Amino acid sequence: MTVEYPTRPGNLADPAPEFPWPSGARCAVFPGFDVDAESAWLEYAPGNTDRMVTLSFGGYEVRAGVPKILEYLRAVEIKATFFIPGWVVDTHPKMCEAIVKDGHEVGHHGYTHKRPEPADFAADKEEIDRALDTLKRVLGVVPVGYRAPSGENYSELLGYLRDRGILYSSSFRDDIRPYRHKLRDGSKGPIELPINLSFDDWLYGLSQRFSPRPMFPKEHVLSIWNGEFDQTREWGGLVTMVMHPQVTGRPMRMGIMRDFLARVRSFGDVWIATGRELAEHYIAHEKAAAG
Ligand SMILES: [Zn+2]
Repeated sequence: MTVEYPTRPGNLADPAPEFPWPSGARCAVFPGFDVDAESAWLEYAPGNTDRMVTLSFGGYEVRAGVPKILEYLRAVEIKATFFIPGWVVDTHPKMCEAIVKDGHEVGHHGYTHKRPEPADFAADKEEIDRALDTLKRVLGVVPVGYRAPSGENYSELLGYLRDRGILYSSSFRDDIRPYRHKLRDGSKGPIELPINLSFDDWLYGLSQRFSPRPMFPKEHVLSIWNGEFDQTREWGGLVTMVMHPQVTGRPMRMGIMRDFLARVRSFGDVWIATGRELAEHYIAHEKAAAG
């Protein structure tokens, strides 16, 4: 069988523009959390509905992970972005209200945490709309940011998200500075705040018998995170973190985030920002450049 390869690249966006970060900052760090709770486990196997121990990985977020992370962020006075599936908001409203009450940004993360697929456009649009309704109804939030559940996206869905008020996406892995998507129909898509997968805590700290991964000690993860950060700072880029309260909310792993962000702050020239702040900064420069 012959495989048909595409004749164009996946991403048609122009290279990321160079512009300064606010207040003379040398680089930016975007602390983002994906609050998947049990949805991460329900998504992969419908049979997990009644598997209480499997679901308890996600349940940790409600009982301990999110409260501990909020406590830490209050103490160090950092505002972060929490991408929350609509199902999680409907199922655990109190946990999500606490996030909003502390002044953090809430971003869109699908409804059931279904991974977007180009063949499922109709279902994916439903996921987007259902979660928008839930965020508004339960939390009074109209999100401007979207992180794709399980990290997949496509041109039509990016256009749909833009039309539904989404200013930025934070899922792509192809740059170290924000850029604006260019869609297949030639129109402008949302801004991308690209992620650095080295900052996805799931890879280092979540092991389960059906998806086993090696567990990494604090020193190893810090060594990777500090190394990625140091070079990104040299390049004047953006470090986008992808943390999950069921991983980073664990006792030892809280220490990784705490030590990493304390070191980041010690430089005195790093802008720690929410996705919304980063997107608004990008838009301001885009407007200025257009004259
Ligand atoms: Zn997720």
